[in-house]
Amino acid sequence: MTERHTPRVVPLIDQRSSSFPLPPAAFSERTQLSANGLLADTRGRPLRDLRISVTDRCNFRCNYCMPKEIFDKDYQYLPHKALLSFEEITRLARVFVAHGVQKIRLTGGEPLLRKNIELLIEQLSQLRTVEGLPLDLTLTTNGSLLARKAASLKAAGLQRVTVSLDGLDDAVFRSMNDVDFPVADVLEGIEAAQAAGLGSIKINMVVKRGTNEQEILPMVRRFKGTGVVLRFIEYMDVGATNGWRMNEVMPSAEVVALIHAQMPLVQLDPSNVGETAERWGFADANGQHDKTQGEIGVISSVTQAFCGDCNRARLSTEGKLYLCLFASQGYDLRSLIRAEATDADLTSAVGHIWQGRTDRYSELRSALAPDASTGGRRVEMSYIGG
Ligand code: SAM
Ligand code: SF4
Ligand code: SF4
Repeated sequence: MTERHTPRVVPLIDQRSSSFPLPPAAFSERTQLSANGLLADTRGRPLRDLRISVTDRCNFRCNYCMPKEIFDKDYQYLPHKALLSFEEITRLARVFVAHGVQKIRLTGGEPLLRKNIELLIEQLSQLRTVEGLPLDLTLTTNGSLLARKAASLKAAGLQRVTVSLDGLDDAVFRSMNDVDFPVADVLEGIEAAQAAGLGSIKINMVVKRGTNEQEILPMVRRFKGTGVVLRFIEYMDVGATNGWRMNEVMPSAEVVALIHAQMPLVQLDPSNVGETAERWGFADANGQHDKTQGEIGVISSVTQAFCGDCNRARLSTEGKLYLCLFASQGYDLRSLIRAEATDADLTSAVGHIWQGRTDRYSELRSALAPDASTGGRRVEMSYIGG
C-alpha cells in the first residue's frame, strides 16, 4: 500500500524566531557555573548526548517530516549566515563535552548536504570526553549521498552511521520520500558505509500504519544476520506540519509481536542508560540469543515514554539549544557566541539551562489534550534535528 497525499496539512507557524531568555544567573560572578562533568537537571538527569542539526535543508520530502505542501519552493530556509559555522559548532561542542557529553550525532535536515561536512567531523573527532576518551561520533542520514561520501566521512573520523530507510518496496519508498528516490541507491550507500568500515550501522524505519507496515518483515529478513541493526520508530507527533494522527501509529509492541511470530525474539538488556531503543535479539532453537543473527530495536516514543533517563540535548541549525524534541522554543547560544562571550560564559549558560530543565513531553503526552503543551507550535524536526 503506498502513501496517499491527502491535503490535511496544518498551517506552519514559524517557531524559529522565538527563544527563551538566557538565565541571568549564568552571567553573575556569584552564581557562574563551571563544568565538572557532573551536571544534572531538575530530575537528576545528566547531559550525555548532543544532537547537532547542521542544515535545515533536505533533498527528500518525507511526508511525516517535511511535507511538500509546506516545504515547497517558497519555504524560507535559513540563510547561510544564520547557520553556525564549523568553528562555532566545535566551540559549543567543547562546552557540552566538558559538561559530560560523550556522544555527538550530526543530523538535520540532511547532514550530508552541508558543504564540507568532513571538515566539521575532523574538528569534532579531536575532542575528548571528561574521562579523556574519544567521543562516540555518529551521523543520521537518508543515505542518498552515502555511496559518494562514506570513505571521506570515515577518513575524517566518523565512527558510525545511522541510515533511514522506510521500506524495500521501491514504490512504497519513492512515495514516502516523495521525491521518487529509489531504494537501490540507499542500499548502495549502506554497502559503501560497510565497506568503508563505518562500524555498527543502524537503520531507522519509521512505521506508519496504512503506509509501510507491510515492509516490516521484508526489512527484517533483508538485514537479519548482516551485522546491521534495524530499528523501528513509532511515527511521532513532532513538528506542526505532518498532520499526525494517533491511528497512524503502529505501537512497537505490535511490531515486536509481528516479527516474533515469524522469527522468535528474546529481549536484551539496554546497552547503556538513556538508550532510546528497546533491544530484541533473534533467538536460537533453545530460546537463547543467537548473536550471529544479530538484533533489532524498537523506539516507542509515543506508546512508552522514556523521559525518565533522557540525557539528550539538541543544537539547532542556527545555534539554539533545545531541551526536548517536542520543545516549542530553544535558548539562543549563537547570540552569545556572536556577542563575543567568553568560554566561561558559554559554559555557565549551558550549565544553568540544563540545571533548570524539567522537560518530559512523552510522559505527559497521554495526560494532555492534543497539542496542549505547546499550542501546536512545536519546532520542525528538520530544524531541530532528529
Ligand atoms: N535526513 C536524515 C534522515 O532522514 O536520516 C536526518 C534527519 S531526520 C529528521 C532523523 C530521523 O528522524 C530519521 O530517521 C527520520 O526517519 C526520523 N523522523 C522524522 N520525522 C519523524 C516522525 N514524525 N516520527 C518519527 N521519526 C521521524
Ligand atoms: Fe529529510 Fe530526513 Fe526529514 Fe526525510 S526524515 S524529510 S530525509 S530530514
Ligand atoms: Fe527526552 Fe523530550 Fe523525548 Fe522525553 S519527550 S524522551 S524529554 S526528548
